[in-house]
Amino acid sequence: MTVLNKESFNKELFSRIRSLITEYNLIKKGDLIAIALSGGKDSVLTLHALAQMQKDSDFVDFDIIAISVDEGIHGYRNHGIETARSNAKELGIELVEKSFKEEFDFNLDDIYTKFKSACIPCGVFRRNILNKTAYEIGADTMATGHNLDDEIQSFLMSFARADTMKFAKFGPKLDTIHPKLIPRIKPLWNTAEKDVGTWAIMNEIAIHLDECPYSSLSLRAKTKNFLNNTESKYPGTKLNILNSFKKMFDIESTNVIPNECEICGEPTSSNVCMACEIIKIINNP
Ligand code: SF4
Repeated sequence: MTVLNKESFNKELFSRIRSLITEYNLIKKGDLIAIALSGGKDSVLTLHALAQMQKDSDFVDFDIIAISVDEGIHGYRNHGIETARSNAKELGIELVEKSFKEEFDFNLDDIYTKFKSACIPCGVFRRNILNKTAYEIGADTMATGHNLDDEIQSFLMSFARADTMKFAKFGPKLDTIHPKLIPRIKPLWNTAEKDVGTWAIMNEIAIHLDECPYSSLSLRAKTKNFLNNTESKYPGTKLNILNSFKKMFDIESTNVIPNECEICGEPTSSNVCMACEIIKIINNP
């Protein structure tokens, strides 16, 4: 995206987000949208973009609520939560705060060594808390800050792990038929990470910029470096990967999750959900 002046940049960026929402019908009249707000630049842009659309007189009426999750990562997450609070307050949006400690009685710092990467339990428990909370507050949809770079990284990681089931989660909208699983939307699905960063800097938005201390060990970090290096040598690579995926798969397809976990009752595609499987590993001395 071309960087012009702040007003033109913002206009182009917000217009692209709105076009995606309209094209894929991500928000419907009367929806209560729960925004997963970590305090990082992507979730903060999602919050600002939806708050602006709420004011657009020619867009359908909808409500917003934000949810933040403290994973319990010492010296890292606190600042993110503060950023989430300040942005939600500035925009007059209610913020519901949850934590691993409160929900599962441990911090990520306490249990991560039992896993190959801290991101494995982190992602599973965070998704579990976000979904449960969104369900409890009666949200119709949950909006996440996944941007174009995140999506392409996830796509390549699924290829690398031969985890083709994950392909069903690709796309700007994840519909599900299970009543306890809140459908998810990704308003930044076709917005590049560098555009999100440019927006935050140009507009002097308070965001959480620190890197998670566990991120460098993850496959995602390595995939991200590979993609950024390739993009700098061959501009357009990321968009080409996204377009290839759109051509190869039906991104409108529905991800069917018919079961409920026999331990906790949360929706799952197996008999026992990933959160309960991971708790078994944690409790196994
Ligand atoms: Fe969690 Fe990994 Fe993200 Fe850190 S980098 S917040 S451990 S998913």
